This record gives sequence, structure tokens and C-alpha cells, in this order.
Amino acid sequence: MTAISSTESVRVRFAPSPTGPLHIGGVRTALYNYLFAKKHGGTFILRIEDTDQTRYVEGAEKYIQDALHWFGLHFDEGPEQGGDYGPYRQSERKDLYKKYAEQLIKSGHAYYAFDSEQDLEAMREREKAKGNHTPKYDASVRHSMKNSLNMSEAEVAAHLEKGENVTVRLLIPQDENVVIKDIVRGEVTFSSNELDDKVILKNDGMPTYHLANIVDDHSMAITHVIRGEEWLSSTAHHVLMYRFFEWTAPAFAHLPLILKPTGKGKLSKRDGAKFGFPVFPMEWKDGEDLFSGFKEDGFLPDAVLNFLVLLGWNPGDDTEMMSLEEMCKAFSLDRIVKSGARFDFDKAKWFNQQYFINTPNADLLVMVKDVLVKYNVDGLTDDFISGVIELMKERVDVADDFYNNATFFYHEPSEYDLKTFRKKYKAENAEHFDAILAGLEGLDTWDTEAITQVIKGYIGDNGLSFGAILPVVRIYITGTVKGPDLFPTLELLGREEVIARWKKNASQLPESV
Ligand code: GLU
Repeated sequence: MTAISSTESVRVRFAPSPTGPLHIGGVRTALYNYLFAKKHGGTFILRIEDTDQTRYVEGAEKYIQDALHWFGLHFDEGPEQGGDYGPYRQSERKDLYKKYAEQLIKSGHAYYAFDSEQDLEAMREREKAKGNHTPKYDASVRHSMKNSLNMSEAEVAAHLEKGENVTVRLLIPQDENVVIKDIVRGEVTFSSNELDDKVILKNDGMPTYHLANIVDDHSMAITHVIRGEEWLSSTAHHVLMYRFFEWTAPAFAHLPLILKPTGKGKLSKRDGAKFGFPVFPMEWKDGEDLFSGFKEDGFLPDAVLNFLVLLGWNPGDDTEMMSLEEMCKAFSLDRIVKSGARFDFDKAKWFNQQYFINTPNADLLVMVKDVLVKYNVDGLTDDFISGVIELMKERVDVADDFYNNATFFYHEPSEYDLKTFRKKYKAENAEHFDAILAGLEGLDTWDTEAITQVIKGYIGDNGLSFGAILPVVRIYITGTVKGPDLFPTLELLGREEVIARWKKNASQLPESV
């Protein structure tokens, strides 16, 4: 089913509704579409599904574009790029849908319905009273409703003329099995009796998702529909509509859910705040609520993509680290799994750390400089910051750690680990610390090698242990025993700073314990 015939070129679309920011699950959907397109030399399309005017959120489309741009998932066709199949915003294609709704009415697969909200509510109440707890507009009720199936032509014309509550509904056939051939799930069968006569055209003349989605997939020559599992049940309606229009349906691949870290239930936008991690690619403000994003939280876009690609797919071996290019080569729809994928934030941080380690310092410089601006650190040279990056990159999960785990590079420690200091500091070693300091002060060249020779040499020559000296020196200079290698840290901080901190703390810290 995944085989691509040589005459058909792959065209896939990412089709978000601008009803809010792009959730991280949406990024995964976009990524899988992108990878599939690139793998097959196909076309990756952005289509904005904005037919539901009531749910339209200002700024959402821009957010979606910006976020995918940040990830480097560039579209070949879309509202900004243009293309031969535009326009790519459904609100700009409004006229097209009406024609198709009318075509279905003509062919007997759809009908006009003029029911008001009250009529619908009354129907639901009647059904509930009869013991039907999931009432829907279907074969069991359509004969009792205000629709063209139950009216004369003149009545229908009068309703259309009046223009109130004019909708078009699909006429779902009875007692049929509707079979969806899904690349991920195999054959999924729905009984047509479970399906309702969905509205396909609304009173405002706008199509609903179902009509617009398939008209566009067809008219944009989409070959594969790759989307979240939550759309699987709609696909039964879609499959019927393809048949009514006598169109060939695209291939379908429904992606597994992304689950909460607990593995129970779908990851929601509220889970971010609850579990303390981002669920959006970039920051999003929703009224009073500010949702943080992977970007602001110090993630590298490639690391996030690498994390996401493995949420529901694997390359067939245990390879984890993959560049976008490698993902494109390795990707195939038949290795997408059916079961939900648990969102493991520690794993996301692990990927980020690996990407920090593998990214050249020069490429991290701009990002780290931005972090430092955020924390009001200024006046440092690029060389110094690059030195910090070199020493810290194996010790950071997120960009802010270049500040938070390394504050001693930017200013004198404001806190000292006195607990460890107390354990390690012996008054009888005071003369040794003075002697080592004198050795450092007298160095011709201030570099790691020379510093190492002075300190290690002194320890060796005087029969001391590293454990009695090095932790104390570390605390004098950095306030903590955690951190990168001590000698290069001293080199980077510079002679003057090291000596000043050493002198000050050698006189103050022993007194404070
Ligand atoms: N507009 C739908 C969404 O917001 C698209 C679903 C689909 O890809 O068909 O996810």
C-alpha cells in the first residue's frame, strides 16, 4: 500500500486549522508529511483550514508558519509560497465548495436541511426520551426533520428563498460497511449505521471541515493523507464522499496519539504547565495564560525534531540520533506504530544535550549571547563566551543552563557550598593553599597546562591528596564542586579574577565554617 507508482508524484499536505497555536503533536504531523514528501521527491503543501469562522484565532496562522520555519520544515506550496493549486486558505476557496455540495444534492447523496438549533435540540430530547442516549441526525430521524427529503420542490424553494438555517447534509446509506484502508492500521471498518448525516455546507455558505477537506485533497491532487488518529472516525465519511463524487481517494495514514508522560491519555496543552515542560514549539499567549515554548526554553530545533520523529516511528534499528536529512532517507510510513507514544521530557532534554555537544561552538554563540542578555550579563568577548560554551556544552540540557549552571563564569559566586567546604577544608593546609596561590601568581603563562603543573606538582611534591586541595580551590573560585574541569575553568576566568577570588575566599570562608 505504501508503494509509490513511478507515474505518481507524492503530494502531501499539512492542514492545520488556525484555532490556536500549533501543538507539538501538530509539529510531528507536519514532520512526517515533510519527511515522506522529501523521501519521494514529492511536494509538501501547507493548507490553512479556516472555514470555521467562530473558532478563528488571530495570529494562529502566523504562529504555525513561524514555528515550522524555525524547524526548517519549509513548504513547497502554501499561502505564502503560492503554487499551481492555490489559493491555499480555505476561506479564499469558498465558492468552490458550494458547487460540490450542489453536485452531491443532484446525484442524490446530499440534501438540504432547514432545521433550527431548537429543532435539533427537540429531536435530541425526543430520542433521549426513547432511550437513545447518543442521538444523531441519521436514517432513524431524518424523515421527521425539516429537510428537502420530506418537502415538495416548492417548499424547498421557499426555504432557500428565505435563507434561514440553510444547510446541506450528507445522505448516509444504511447497512453498509465502510472500509478505510489505512497504511498504519490496516483495514478499519465502520458500519454506515454509526455515521450521522453530517452537515457539509453551513448557513453562512461555508463548508464544514469534511467537505472542504476532501474537495481540497482532491483538487490539490493530494496522494497521501497523513494526519492524527483523532481524524480516523471522520475518514469513514470521507471515504463515502470520495465514492459519491466518483473520485479516487488518497492513501490514508493515521498517526498514533502522543500520550501524557504517565502514559495515560492524550497529551494536552494544559499538561505543559502541569508537568513543567513545553508542549508548544514557541511561546504562545492566550489571554492571561502564557504557554512557554521549546524555543524559549532553550531547545535546538533539530533536537526537537529528532525527539519527535521517534514518537511513533522508528528507523528499524536502534539508531537514535538523526539529522533531518538522515530522517528523510530513513523514513517510511510502514514503520509508523499503532500504539500511542509516551511524551518523555527527559528524553527531549537528552536529545538537546546531544545536539549541544555535536554543534560547533560558533553556531551556539548567538543563542548563548541571547541567553546572557536575558540574564543581564554584558561586556563579555565572543572568545570568552566561546570558552564557556566549550567547557559547558556537555553539561547543559537547555540553553539557559549556559547561564544557570555556569554563573561563576559571569560573576563572583553569590553562594558557597559550605557543607562540602567544611568537610574538605583543614586549617593545617592553609599554608599549602598560600603556597599554591603564590605559584600561580608567579606563572609566566596563564594557561591550563601551566596551571595544572603548579597545582598538581605542588600536591605531588608535598605528599598531599587531590581530595584535600582541589575541592577547596574549586569552592574558592566557583562556589561549588560541580562544574567543568577545574584547570581550564581557571584559565578561562583569567589570572586576575582567580587570584582575587582566591585571596578573598581564603580569608573569609574558613572563618564562616
Ligand atoms: N484541519 C484539520 C486539523 O486541524 C486537518 C485534519 C486533516 O489533516 O485532515 O487538524
